Order: sequence, then C-alpha cells, then structure tokens
Amino acid sequence: MTGQLQICIHRGTREIGGSCVELEYDGKRIVVDLGLPLNAELEATELPHIPAIHSADGSLLGVLLSHGHRDHWGLLPKLPGGINVHLGRKTLSIMTAAAPFMPGGYAPDSAMVYEDQKAFELGPFWITPHLMDHSGFDAYGFLIEAGGRRIYYSGDIRGHGRKAALFERFLASPPADVDLLLMEGSSLGRLSTSQRFETENEIENRLLETMRRTAGIVLVACSAQNIDRVVSVYRAAKRSGRRLLVDAYAAEVLKATDTKSIPKPTDEWPDVKVYIPQAQRRFLKERNIAALVDAYKGRRVFPEALPEEAAKSAMLMRPWMLRDLAQAGALMGASAIWSQWDGYLKEEAGIKFQDACRAASVGFEIIHTSGHADPHDLQRFAEAMQAKKLVPIHTFQPDQFEGLFGNVARVVDGEWFYV
Ligand SMILES: [Zn+2]
Ligand SMILES: [Zn+2]
Repeated sequence: MTGQLQICIHRGTREIGGSCVELEYDGKRIVVDLGLPLNAELEATELPHIPAIHSADGSLLGVLLSHGHRDHWGLLPKLPGGINVHLGRKTLSIMTAAAPFMPGGYAPDSAMVYEDQKAFELGPFWITPHLMDHSGFDAYGFLIEAGGRRIYYSGDIRGHGRKAALFERFLASPPADVDLLLMEGSSLGRLSTSQRFETENEIENRLLETMRRTAGIVLVACSAQNIDRVVSVYRAAKRSGRRLLVDAYAAEVLKATDTKSIPKPTDEWPDVKVYIPQAQRRFLKERNIAALVDAYKGRRVFPEALPEEAAKSAMLMRPWMLRDLAQAGALMGASAIWSQWDGYLKEEAGIKFQDACRAASVGFEIIHTSGHADPHDLQRFAEAMQAKKLVPIHTFQPDQFEGLFGNVARVVDGEWFYV
C-alpha cells in the first residue's frame, strides 16, 4: 500500500474523549493521541484496532500526544513497551510530577519531546507541532505531511484563554495548502452559534469580586493542571490582598511547568504557600514521597495557623479537603468557588461537596469558562485554515459542522480513507 496517504479515525468522529487517529503512508504508520473515552475505566477499555501496535515489523513509528488530558493519553499505559511517545517537554514533566498523586497516574517510558514549530521526521512523515491556547498546558496541534499531502490535526483549542495570542498568531499565518483538517468541535451543542465563552480575564475578575467580599478563606475547586485557571486564581488573590495556598500535588504540578511566569511555591513567589492536609501527609508517607515536602520549607502553612491565615488566603482545593479544613477550624466566613466543569456537580462527589458546604455555611458559586473554542472561534479557525476538506473530530455534534463550516466531510470511526 504505497503512494497515497490514508487515515483512520479509530475514535472521535462522534464523541468527545478517546480521540485516536492512525495515519499510513508507504507501509509506515503513526498514531495521533490514544485517549480514554469519557467515563470509561482503563481496565475495561480495549485499545482501538491498530494491528501495528502488536506487530514487531517496525511499521508503527510512534505515537504523537497532543496534550496531557486523559481523553487524549488515557490508553497509553496499555501500549507495549518500546513504542515511542512524542509529546511536549512540559507535558511530560507535568505528567511525571502528577503521576504519583493520581489513581492510574502515568508518564511514558519511551518519551521523545518535540518543540513548538520545530518540524521533525518520523519515517515518511514530517510533523510540525503548533502550541495552542487550551485549558491543558503545553497543548499542540500538528501539521503532518507525507507523500505530498498535508493534514492538520487541531488538537484541543480555544481563543479565550491566557494564551489567546497564540490562537491569533496561528490564525494570522496558518499552514497553507492543507488537504485535510481534523478539527475539534467540543462546544457544539453546548453553546448557540452566537454565544461566546467568557475569557480567562473575565474569570479572574469574577474571582476577584468573590475574594473581595468574602470575610474568611476562599476555596477554589479547580484542576491544578488547568494552569491558566491557577494563574487567574493567583492574580485575583494578589489583587485582593490574599496569598495562594496549594497542596503538595498542586505544588509539584506548578513546579513542573518549568515556566517563569507561572506562580509556584519557590523563592520567586513569596505569596504562594503550601498547606498539606492530614490525609495527604499520610498519603505522601505511604507513597514514599514524603521527602518532597522538604522543598517547601519556610513556605508551609500548618493547620494550627490556618484559622488566622484564612482571611488572607485563597486556596486551591479538591472536595475531599473540606473536612480537613473544617477540622482545622478554618471555615468561618468562607466561600467555595467551583471552577471546573459543572457536570461533575451532578455526580456523587459533587453533590456531597455542595451539601458539605451548605452544612458548614460555606458560600458556594460556580465561576468557570470552557477549555474549548466557542463556535465563533471555531469558524474563524476553519476560515483561516481554508482546508480542502474539514473532518469533524472530538465532538458530540458532528452533524452541526455542515451548518457552520465549509468543505465538511463526515467520516465514521474505524474506516480508512485516502487524503
Ligand atoms: Zn484537552
Ligand atoms: Zn480533549
């Protein structure tokens, strides 16, 4: 099978999560993302049907990972050893830092790092990563060229985050002559065409309002890996005269960003402190990683000091920490802000958290914006790309693509087609 580039979306043509695309040219193959479907269990989920993964013929040249969200990497732990995983350097460092803290945490053994806009070669494939704005840090789209054909895989994108400038830079000079664009459409079905998502700056201002009017501690339930959001929380905290408190997990993730402008518990950021809940102290010991707290020396806030510190603090937290904070007597006049997907609030842990806030007279509100582009920005993206064909991926609403974008071609999961 030589001569023409062909492609198969194993999963993603009509769902968000579990994205996986395989490309073949001249008998050589690459796989782009190998995600776990939303709400799926790793043990109960098979790898997509990719025979080259299990073959020793060397036809599979590697897996490209667009970013560190589980709906893109979640099935990587099932890869046999020896298959190279190509990913951003900071994605690798965050995955490595986060792994010991997460159930099913993972970082690839055979990791190869790529860089923004530095093209690299995998057999007949030329790959150029493009750093994009997304709620996941260090997230890329890929231009992939083989046999004279050009594919662009959008990855997960948005234009309203802290790296909106990257989105605009891309639109100003997108890759030319793209034959096929695989573009995400996460927001379709969630927003009408004319609705816009709030920007990360607007989120910062709303966080600030709550921090200003709250007498006690402000608890922000968000993912520490949503680095844009952590920056918004930090900035709002600073503007309201508060310090940012993080636990050991968030501390390690923030340090792993290895980025000067990102707040972290180091000497350069005197207003970032570390609070380690009791349960986490035990956990660190069990995992034999208690030594990492040595690096927080002089930056710790201990439970006995927390009631006094509360009014001057904003804390990144997860719902299970609420009980610890109550025991420390730190919840007087507190507010809780849910700053992640509100769908989690309908799940058991989310319902319990709201109940616990109510029981402790902790104010509760949702302040969040999406990690994905709204339809307006998706239209701008598609128009700028001018691809000969646009194939929907990473969407629950592929049928809405035709009404919004030009040159749409629908495909189905598991079917090969020529580019
Ligand atoms: Zn993502
Ligand atoms: Zn995704």
